[in-house]
Amino acid sequence: MLSELTAEFEIIDAHAHIYPDKIAAKAAESIGNFYNMTARYREGSVEKLLSVGSEYGVSGFLVCSVATIPEQVPSINAFIAAQCAEHPEFTGFGALHPGTEDPAAAIEQIRTLGLRGIKLHPDFQRFHIDDRSIYPIYEAAQGVLPILIHMGDARYDFSRPQRLKTVLEDFPKLTVIAAHLGGWEMWDEARELLRHDNVRFDTCSAFQILSTEQATRQILSLGVDKCFFGTDYPVWDYGAELELFFKLGLTREQREKILAKNFREFFR
Ligand SMILES: [Zn+2]
Repeated sequence: MLSELTAEFEIIDAHAHIYPDKIAAKAAESIGNFYNMTARYREGSVEKLLSVGSEYGVSGFLVCSVATIPEQVPSINAFIAAQCAEHPEFTGFGALHPGTEDPAAAIEQIRTLGLRGIKLHPDFQRFHIDDRSIYPIYEAAQGVLPILIHMGDARYDFSRPQRLKTVLEDFPKLTVIAAHLGGWEMWDEARELLRHDNVRFDTCSAFQILSTEQATRQILSLGVDKCFFGTDYPVWDYGAELELFFKLGLTREQREKILAKNFREFFR
């Protein structure tokens, strides 16, 4: 039974989106629309995240939000920081926008707020990962804060693994968490190209598409030590994500690493 399995492990969700209550339902709806589906937790609220999390024994969450215009950056970051202050189980990532005028100052602000990284979403924010106009962001972030980047989606060309490879080579000190096991629907390309030491991966939104065998192979090939479990809250059902995770052909030690240990070590 799932509850017996979840009780045996510490579980951290390394990819959850949160929004202020007054826009949460709308935000959950627009994520759903973008992916032609309905988000599992339509209310999209912090309260719901914490309640379903506790139902499944999830004790930590990486929380983030995407800025669709540069003007949203300060208010999103203030919101994430306030939520982290209120909920010690949160590890907050700040938002940044490719149109942010002074990325170095914005990153310093994110750091000052106590946030632990930066979230970028090339498809929502409509930029190519290796566009030279984004390089000041990588320049300012390298050696300072990791960047969580949405990766892949065969409908677009913005976030191909090939583009991230270019950036990782141009910024050897940059640490990136490549979401969706390195590239949603571009898993082969991710496996082949993203072999760098300073890249990590999260599992979110991959288990619903890949077969158990494919997902297991992807994780083993990318590196068990580099993968974090994530759910993409509010998109998928927590129980279903965990059920799929426990079906993978992994040892107990590998499960422990992906569910929490890797995350703890990374943010220590
Ligand atoms: Zn995300």
